[in-house]
Amino acid sequence: MAAEQASNNDSNVDYEKARASLDRLYNIYKDIASTADEVMQTRCPYKNAASRCTAKFGCRNQFFTTDPTSLPACAGSDQIDYREAWDQ
Ligand code: SF4
Repeated sequence: MAAEQASNNDSNVDYEKARASLDRLYNIYKDIASTADEVMQTRCPYKNAASRCTAKFGCRNQFFTTDPTSLPACAGSDQIDYREAWDQ
């Protein structure tokens, strides 16, 4: 049934437009991936947008506040390799 529907709809597909759309999407995601690869060289993946640490392990860059319910702040500088600060 699904294959039958797909073949019935094939005549409505503009393949060149679909290809151009997929190529455009590929280029957008390629740029996003490239930027993420570059940023992750120095910004720890456990640091959230509010610079709080979401790691479930110890790290010497964690700065705990007096509020036991809040995530620790990340004191990492984003200038050095953060992985050396992680507990083994
Ligand atoms: S405290 Fe450590 S593990 Fe947590 S976000 Fe900062 S560098 Fe990453």
